[in-house]
Amino acid sequence: MVNIFSTPQQGVKIHKLIKAPENYSYNLERKMSWDGNKPATVYVTPELTKEGKPCKAATVILRTKGCHWWWNSGCTFCGYFNDTRDDVTLDNLLQQWNYSKSKLNNFEDVEMIKVYTSGSLLEDREIPIEFQELVLKETNLLGKHLVVESRTEQLTSKKLSWAKKLNSNFTVAIGLEAHDDEVLKFHINKGFSLKSWHRAIEQLQKYNLRIKTYLMFKPPFMSEGEALKQCVKWVKSVVLVSDEISINPMNIQKGTIIDRLYRHGDYRPPWLWSLVELIKQSHDFIYSDGKKISRLIVHPTAAGKPRGAHNCGKCDSEVAAAIERYSVSGNLNEFDYLKCECHERWKQEIFSDQNLPIPIGVGLNRRASIKNMFELF
Ligand code: SF4
Ligand SMILES: [Zn+2]
Repeated sequence: MVNIFSTPQQGVKIHKLIKAPENYSYNLERKMSWDGNKPATVYVTPELTKEGKPCKAATVILRTKGCHWWWNSGCTFCGYFNDTRDDVTLDNLLQQWNYSKSKLNNFEDVEMIKVYTSGSLLEDREIPIEFQELVLKETNLLGKHLVVESRTEQLTSKKLSWAKKLNSNFTVAIGLEAHDDEVLKFHINKGFSLKSWHRAIEQLQKYNLRIKTYLMFKPPFMSEGEALKQCVKWVKSVVLVSDEISINPMNIQKGTIIDRLYRHGDYRPPWLWSLVELIKQSHDFIYSDGKKISRLIVHPTAAGKPRGAHNCGKCDSEVAAAIERYSVSGNLNEFDYLKCECHERWKQEIFSDQNLPIPIGVGLNRRASIKNMFELF
């Protein structure tokens, strides 16, 4: 047993002494094998400008120290720690930024640059202030729209007035996940409340910055039917203050709490049909009296795979493609001709979840036949 009081090493964090999956030796070795001078990934995707015109966007995911909330506790589904390195310095970040610029032709072919850090770009404990300044300034000078991600506590008047002087117009994406304090606390372990989110929104509005809100579809300890009901409500609650709402259907990332639940058979990632239904039920809040209030983006990561949102296996690619198309077109006709026999099974599951007293739902393995599943018992 390690005696933490007699060890000469000072300041050993408790999570280093407990064998949480992220501290298994092979995970630590993997982390330290990342090249601190290269970003985690850099790519270009089609996007829409803030005026709604098609454009190209660069996404730069930097290799950083990760999120300060993760150092203390962390959200139940977040696997970003897999991409981080504890010892990343300012110099490393500068090298990563230069690498990204040279890889993407100095961002000449894109109109938008998304700079993600597996945490919050504007958090001084995670990202050196000099680097925050550089990103804000350079994207402004290049005349590209910047998108950054942030938790709520960094979005103070002091921070935003400083940032606004360096870059007059950028988007801040907040991972709110759920517009419900109970879900934030007990299902997600978000580490901030709706009160803190409202304060952040007030500040962003005061400084006239664009707001993107991430919502999570189907957090842990929630049935499929309940997730559908709740998520429609959350979209309605955030629509008036969000320029964009991005729904993240749960996908299972390694070493997380949701991973343990999933491997134990206590959690199933969402159905793609539920996402179609969510869009259909939310569409009227997004377009009120024909006027577009916000943009609804649903992007199922690992769609069709067992660890991502999936259906029966036969219809997945078609349904996922229609969902992706809706995020750009905003047109419900995208779903007109989708058909599969698993739709009936999904409907029954939603009905049971919403009518039977089973808190985590009746969802079974949707890729196995009912007969095979019962033979297991
Ligand atoms: S706040 Fe974001 S980055 Fe931090 S642990 Fe939660 S999901 Fe991960
Ligand atoms: Zn199907």
